[in-house]
Amino acid sequence: MSATPFAVGDDGWVRGARALHSPNFEARPIGAVPTLIVIHNISLPPGRFGGSAIADLFLNRLDCDAHPYYDAHLRGLRVSSHFVIRREGDLEQFVSCDARAWHAGVSSFFGRERCNDFSVGIELEGADDQPFEPAQYATLASLVAALAAHYPIEALAGHSDIAPGRKTDPGPHFDWARLQRETALADRYFPYRRA
Ligand SMILES: [Zn+2]
Repeated sequence: MSATPFAVGDDGWVRGARALHSPNFEARPIGAVPTLIVIHNISLPPGRFGGSAIADLFLNRLDCDAHPYYDAHLRGLRVSSHFVIRREGDLEQFVSCDARAWHAGVSSFFGRERCNDFSVGIELEGADDQPFEPAQYATLASLVAALAAHYPIEALAGHSDIAPGRKTDPGPHFDWARLQRETALADRYFPYRRA
């Protein structure tokens, strides 16, 4: 499996990604650099793929009258992720990796809180109860390689790892062994996966 190789530019935007500029970000704290990659899943409405609702949410232009779920859960929400990987493997970027996106929420990585400060968020278009697409793994592996080449990435985690009890994504169908195989990263990059 091969995918277009990506490269992180000096502005934190990835060449090869479709840039969609979310207003939902802020500067990282002084001295904070991305050392953690957080993997999520999202679909809007939940379990339905395709369409522009995820991008609309991150761009603050989702019509919350369009679906009861949006009305109940998303109205007024200001969130973002650095990246979304669509089902076909297309990569979208919403926030520069040099900036702090709003994807992790209340979170802790081995006692270090506020994971948004020091992480890059990657959303896979998907749901907890469905497998992800091979094209998504291929794009994810290429993106992780590009990020690790540009930033001092030390670890990858799922949202559920850093917000246990509150978040369940990327869910049981996310194949961590496959990601490790496709990235060829050492075990130490997967601290939550150790037996
Ligand atoms: Zn998440």
